[in-house]
Amino acid sequence: MQQDEALQIVKKGDIEIRILREKCVGAATCVVYSPSTFDLDEKNIAIIKDGDWDSLEKIIEAAQSCSVLAIEVYQGGEKIYPKK
Ligand code: SF4
Repeated sequence: MQQDEALQIVKKGDIEIRILREKCVGAATCVVYSPSTFDLDEKNIAIIKDGDWDSLEKIIEAAQSCSVLAIEVYQGGEKIYPKK
């Protein structure tokens, strides 16, 4: 992906993660909760990693930890976090 992309979407199986990179403030709590799923790029903006992700439970915890709601999680095409 391009580093300046405002939105990163990655799908694996029936799980899709979106990072609204314009919202991200680089607090990195998502990386603490799901280190195999999220990382920060050189500008301290969150990215979704390649390879095996953490469990869905941990990914949701990471999304919940994000104070600016920059992480969205979908399962089977339905948004499961945030629920709005
Ligand atoms: S928790 Fe949210 S604001 Fe912090 S790095 Fe992750 S996506 Fe960005």
